[in-house]
Formats: sequence, structure tokens, C-alpha cells
Amino acid sequence: MIIAHKISELKEFVHQCKKEGKSIGLVTTMGALHEGHASLIKAARAENDIVITTVFVNPTQFGPNEDYAKYPRTLEADAKVAESAGADFLFNPAPEEMYPHKDPTWVEVEGPITKVLCGRTRPIHFRGVATVCTKFFNLTECDRAYYGLKDAQQTQVLQRMVEDLFMNLELRICPIVREADGLAKSSRNVYLSAEEHKAALVLSRSLKHAKEAFEAGERNKQKLIDQVIAEIRTEPMSDIDYVEMYGMPGLTEMGETIEGKALLALAVKFGKTRLIDNVVLEA
Ligand code: AMP
Repeated sequence: MIIAHKISELKEFVHQCKKEGKSIGLVTTMGALHEGHASLIKAARAENDIVITTVFVNPTQFGPNEDYAKYPRTLEADAKVAESAGADFLFNPAPEEMYPHKDPTWVEVEGPITKVLCGRTRPIHFRGVATVCTKFFNLTECDRAYYGLKDAQQTQVLQRMVEDLFMNLELRICPIVREADGLAKSSRNVYLSAEEHKAALVLSRSLKHAKEAFEAGERNKQKLIDQVIAEIRTEPMSDIDYVEMYGMPGLTEMGETIEGKALLALAVKFGKTRLIDNVVLEA
């Protein structure tokens, strides 16, 4: 696996791949790679001639009081995970490479899709994500890009962007990878104390119970949301940011009765760590 930090090196690699007619799969990450990331790299490996993984803690998707400075940076370990999952090329640029101008060009997806859920408390987050992903799509000329349903809103925003800008690639959305105890794997899980980790298990548990209720026939949106909120509140360390439901695809506003496909998503803080998780409900 090649490790590169300069855009010129990435471009040269992509140029060579294209000349040889090879298909390219892309997995964009912020590093601190775990099995969730590895599952995306493996999915890309299975469908493409070449797999490029990016490790870049993107400053523009963090708000002023968020964890940009302390976000885990573990490149050596990341290289091992990426290589053993099947990546051919790991791109780890400096912020100045990715944002050469003081006044950047932004890609912004408008409307409720970026304003609901995480968009409410993270107003610039999806602009940062859409912008950096566009840069990586352009640089890698990828045929397919792989994203985890763990960040469900991100997948919907990027899908909208790809459609609106007629981008020449396919997005693949892959399932959430969890710890054996149910906690969705996340680079931010390392922030949790043992006690907080244990408390945070209430998230996957409450979503599982909601799915079971849905499968047993419950179709009332608010009842399912209230059930999840009540269960999370039994955990005194939890501090709920949101528990909400929207239609999929596109995070559309729903009526009281669930029809079609719905995303039940939550964000909850344990101590200083904000975790997200979700489940898709589909009859
Ligand atoms: P991040 O490094 O957090 O920006 O995530 C990079 C990619 O990995 C995104 O597409 C995430 O949705 C995906 N990802 C993160 N955690 C998981 C997980 N537990 N299961 C599946 N995909 C994940």
C-alpha cells in the first residue's frame, strides 16, 4: 500500500490507474480506523480494481467548540488497518493541501436535509463534509465511494449532492458495524470512560426495542420516538440531543403513521462525548 501526503502524488497515481483502465473505489475517513472503516474498505475491494482510502481530519466540518484539536490521530495504526482491509493507496494530506485558499469554495446542500438531526446543532458540519468529499471525488476520479449508514444523514446529504451536481460516481451505503456489546463503532468511542461506555449501551438497546415494536406492528411515529426517549432516560448519564424520525431517502418530513422506509436516529451525550446511532424501519 502506498502512503502519500501530497495531492501531486495522488494525481499521478490516479492518472496511471485511469490510463490502465482500472476502476477506483474510494473510502473517505477521518482516521482512527476501526472495523467500521475496514468494512467499507473491504466492500470497495470487492467491487473495484483499485481502492483509495483517505485519512484526513477535515477542519471545516467541526464547529468552533467541537473536538477538532483532540480528535484521535493514529496514522501508523490506520495504515495497518487500511492495508489489511485491502486498500492500495492511503492519502493523508495536510489541511493546507486540501484548502489552499484563505477564502475557500464551498459546496452546500440546502434545505431541511442539512438542517434537521445533526444539522440543528452543527450548522456548518454538512457544508464541510460536502466540500471535502467533492474535493476527494474530483481528485480520485472514483467510480464508487463507500459510506457507512452509521452517519445516515451524511449518506443522504452526499447522495443529494451527487444527484444535484451530476457527479459521475455511485455511492454505496454500507451497514453499521457494532461492538459485540452493541455500541456502534466510532472513532469517538475512545473518549468514553468504562462507565460511560456501559451507559451508552442504552442507545443500541433502545433502538433494537423500537425496531422490535415496529416489527410487532407499531406504526405510530411519536410512540416509537417516546419509547426510545423513555428508555434512554433510564440511564442517568445520558443527555439527549435528539431522537427523531424522517422518511428515507432524503430525510423527508413524515406524518404520524410510518409508511415506506423511515430513519429513526438519535444523538446523545455521555459526559463530553456525543454519540450518534440509528435504525432503519421498513415494513
Ligand atoms: P469517519 O472517519 O467517522 O468520518 O467515518 C468515515 C466513514 O466510515 C463514514 O462513511 C462513516 O459512516 C463510516 N463509519 C464510521 N463508523 C462506522 C460503523 N460503525 N459502521 C460502518 N461504517 C462506519
